[in-house]
Amino acid sequence: MNGVTLEIKLNNAASNDPCEVCGARTDPETGPELFLAGSWGLVCYECGDEHAPELVRCLSAYRSARTSGDERTYVIPEPYTREVRELVNTLDGERQEIALSLGTEHPLFKLVDGALRGDDIEELQVAYVAARGWPRVGSAGALPN
Ligand SMILES: [Zn+2]
Repeated sequence: MNGVTLEIKLNNAASNDPCEVCGARTDPETGPELFLAGSWGLVCYECGDEHAPELVRCLSAYRSARTSGDERTYVIPEPYTREVRELVNTLDGERQEIALSLGTEHPLFKLVDGALRGDDIEELQVAYVAARGWPRVGSAGALPN
């Protein structure tokens, strides 16, 4: 299926709605989740893999960073102040790179852009992980792992 645009948004209502694309059962967590762009329609990871694999990868990177070791290990430890400033600087650079490589309509750009406009630390963390994990065109050396 073409024309399906997905985005990562913070899921604050942990309802068990079926996947908006294929109708499969979803098991959403509060925090960042996959949605149909412009809506609160949950999307399962299988559909995510098909339509926006980079976003699914961001989510799993975020989850594993967050759950490794201590059950509430955050990507960025508290206190946030200095880290947040560095985070915003890094993200700002990534935003320009993403805009050039993927375009400003790409969900990854919107994620990073949205996070930079807001002041939600969790959104910044998601965007940070996402921005570090996106598949760069033409600079294979920058690929993580
Ligand atoms: Zn689905």
